[in-house]
Amino acid sequence: MAVKVIQEKCIGCGICIDTCPFDAIDMVDEKAVITDKCTACGNCIDVCPKEAIIMEEREKNIINIDEYKGVWVFAEQREGKLLNVSIELIGEGRKIADELDTELTAILLGKDVEDLAKQLIKYGADNVLYGESELLQIYTTDGYTKVICDLIKERKPEIMLIGATNIGRDLGPRISARIHTGLTADCTRLEVDKENRRLLQTRPAFGGNLMATIICPNHRPQMSTVRPGVMEKAKYDESRLGNIEKFVPNLREEDIKAKVLEVVKEAKAQIKLEEANIIVSGGRGLGNPEGFKLIEQLAEKLGAVVGASRATVDAGWIDQSHQVGQTGKTVRPTLYIACGISGAIQHLAGMQESEVIVAINKDKNAPIFKIADYGVVGDVYEVLPELIEALDNIDEILESVN
Ligand code: FAD
Ligand code: SF4
Ligand code: SF4
Repeated sequence: MAVKVIQEKCIGCGICIDTCPFDAIDMVDEKAVITDKCTACGNCIDVCPKEAIIMEEREKNIINIDEYKGVWVFAEQREGKLLNVSIELIGEGRKIADELDTELTAILLGKDVEDLAKQLIKYGADNVLYGESELLQIYTTDGYTKVICDLIKERKPEIMLIGATNIGRDLGPRISARIHTGLTADCTRLEVDKENRRLLQTRPAFGGNLMATIICPNHRPQMSTVRPGVMEKAKYDESRLGNIEKFVPNLREEDIKAKVLEVVKEAKAQIKLEEANIIVSGGRGLGNPEGFKLIEQLAEKLGAVVGASRATVDAGWIDQSHQVGQTGKTVRPTLYIACGISGAIQHLAGMQESEVIVAINKDKNAPIFKIADYGVVGDVYEVLPELIEALDNIDEILESVN
């Protein structure tokens, strides 16, 4: 993208020179001139008091952002069931729509999904737009992208949220490229600047070392994919009412270039940390990879899923799919049991919203105890076997207590 100064408009005030982080503007005969150091970051465009600086590509794609209204959520479903992240996004979308004093619309695609449309209203959507077709029963990039892009062009939403699932990560960038708008991937926080209706999209950047807040000032919709498990799920309210509109997608078989012949589920047990009600996590305090056997035993007794700290993943004790934290999964279970985990800030970032946190650590000053609801100061190799044994005899114990 080329950034240019319209020489006739420039008054030589020099404000742009002070703003350019790349020292890419020279003053020649009292007029600003952009040099080849320019990275097209756009900073100077926003500060020029005479609107003398333009980005050529941007000029071509100028849209009237006032025409775009409403918050949309892509309600992802699989095999006729709404994903948890869809319900989380309805909760977050509701807050954003209320702040902007606008409506929340859920976009639902599939086959025989009318019941899900009703559920989305009960969860908090004002409107549900649902499209049914044989061609939408199984997700395809081409099919879903075309149908959603057609809807966006016709109805013009100002914000669109998509879960950062495998499907969402495929779909989001396709839509944004086709619509010529920006997309912030894998957001962990969303806020609104009410004054100019901008969505402030925050996500970890540079390997999680800093949090970047990204805006999309000149294009619409403002699009984000949002990490599953980060936002709170919307509450189900049986009494809620809303508008449900069925539309006929303009989709033909030839629009879908890749054909899905068969869906084969991975044989390996899926690690559904984000969906788990109970998580038992192991940390470096286990001392060696064998320690995870104890974690697995306890998890099995509780019907829980096994989590892990990054230290254990980096050490090769367990697969990365189990990692909880800033660069792993964000979880919000009813019960989180941290065994031999110190409670580094990057680990807490992924689990501190858990309803009840139990920590087992031999160091009474370990930071994990600051956020734990229940703490056991002790060696995991003593506490865990006792806990497992106690669960074996839970019926007996409960009887003796009652
Ligand atoms: P340690 O910090 O070594 O803690 C081990 C704990 O076990 C100690 O508190 C010790 O007292 C206790 N202990 C030792 N022996 C026993 C025993 N026998 N019984 C009971 N307790 C015992 N970390 C994550 O977890 N997830 C992330 O997503 C993540 N992302 C990161 C991103 C960045 C950019 C950076 C810089 C770091 C990230 N980390 C992440 C790493 C994080 O900073 C910590 O290093 C890591 O969480 C430590 O793991 P730990 O608690 O298992 O190990
Ligand atoms: Fe010229 Fe605008 Fe730069 Fe001022 S801020 S020197 S008017 S281009
Ligand atoms: Fe400097 Fe960015 Fe302006 Fe280019 S677009 S001249 S890099 S401020």
